[in-house]
Amino acid sequence: MLKRKGLLLVVSGPSGAGKGTICKALLNSNENLKLSVSVTTRKSREGEVEGVNYYFIDNEKFNQLVEADELLEYAHVYGNFYGTPKEKVIENLEKGNDVILEIEMKGAMQVRERYPEGVFIFTLPPSLEELKNRIVGRGTETPEEIHKRLSSAYDEIKLIDNYDYFVINEEVATAVETIENIIKCEKNKVERYRDVILEKFEEEL
Ligand code: 5GP
Repeated sequence: MLKRKGLLLVVSGPSGAGKGTICKALLNSNENLKLSVSVTTRKSREGEVEGVNYYFIDNEKFNQLVEADELLEYAHVYGNFYGTPKEKVIENLEKGNDVILEIEMKGAMQVRERYPEGVFIFTLPPSLEELKNRIVGRGTETPEEIHKRLSSAYDEIKLIDNYDYFVINEEVATAVETIENIIKCEKNKVERYRDVILEKFEEEL
């Protein structure tokens, strides 16, 4: 067997495209896959659990993490800060676990710069109308927030060139299957694993 480093999967896309639902389903059926739990300065919503959905922290603590370069990326989204704690991600990748980041697009681009070997997956809603229905149906955003999120959605979709793959979220199960296939292919990319392959066979000589 090859000693392969884990894959860093970055799942991003417009809010309401369903990246959260897709990631949850993916995590349920793939135990080798670890979710990176972000820090955020936003207030927790009903039902959210500290350390599971997010680490809820204040602005001061967030700034400290930024200053200490402890975040792989961070962004200011709809009035709050969100960021990915770096250490845990790196640790898991080194152990051979695949790590999934479910983050918005500005952060995804920072990851692309700092960790280009990541796999960048763009989730698309089937239509803008459907996107609106989903955000409204979630019932957690005010009408003003919904308007803000929708108007930025099209601008975000235009940034799809920065991604390696896209997944249309019409059916969660199909979207999950598509991502599982992406993972399988990426795990067999020569440029990613050539060194470990050559090392293994040289050892056996
Ligand atoms: P929500 O407040 O609805 O949980 O998340 C708002 C947006 O922030 C979503 O698009 C979500 O994917 C994104 N987000 C969550 N965690 C992070 C993070 O660590 N970094 C970045 N850049 N975005 C995040």
